[in-house]
Amino acid sequence: MFSMVRGLQIYGQQAIQAAKYIGQGFMVTLDHMNRLPITIQYPYEKSVPSERFRGRIHFEFDKCIACEVCVRVCPINLPVVDWEFERNIRKKQLKSYSIDFGVCIFCGNCVEYCPTNCLSMTEEYELSTYDRHELNHDQIALGRLPISVIEDSTIRAISGLTQLPKGILEGHSDSKNVTNFLH
Ligand code: SF4
Ligand code: SF4
Repeated sequence: MFSMVRGLQIYGQQAIQAAKYIGQGFMVTLDHMNRLPITIQYPYEKSVPSERFRGRIHFEFDKCIACEVCVRVCPINLPVVDWEFERNIRKKQLKSYSIDFGVCIFCGNCVEYCPTNCLSMTEEYELSTYDRHELNHDQIALGRLPISVIEDSTIRAISGLTQLPKGILEGHSDSKNVTNFLH
């Protein structure tokens, strides 16, 4: 008799616990019903990169003095600066310049230290390709002006996550309980 009562007691406790967990699950669902979606319909919609976004590097050939500072400050000595010394003008003459974005880590050092500001970070992030060797950009590819997401009329620009309504990035108030439940 005693064991049956004890069994019923344990069963009741487990049922209450299960109901509590189901309730927590519903609370998470309800919490999300108040939020705006933070996914976007890429490539028809694109998020606007932040002000200091480090995307594809833009290079201005005419401003480069072939000093090779960008090579020395690069953690992997990546930029390839090909130049010749012109005796008539007693100056280095830049022949070609390239950066391989298949290897670049977009740290921005080259941009930061270039003495003539001929390098700059753009907001371009769509660099995917089937052949990684195509990511080795010469001065012509590097000199192409970036396409701004805001100015592209073919897509819808979505402002960054930081501009979403307040509270959208905050965690659930009961997330700790849910984590405990999962573990
Ligand atoms: S640091 Fe600037 S100026 Fe010097 S080689 Fe590199 S890109 Fe050219
Ligand atoms: S961004 Fe960094 S890794 Fe890429 S070329 Fe410049 S210094 Fe090198």
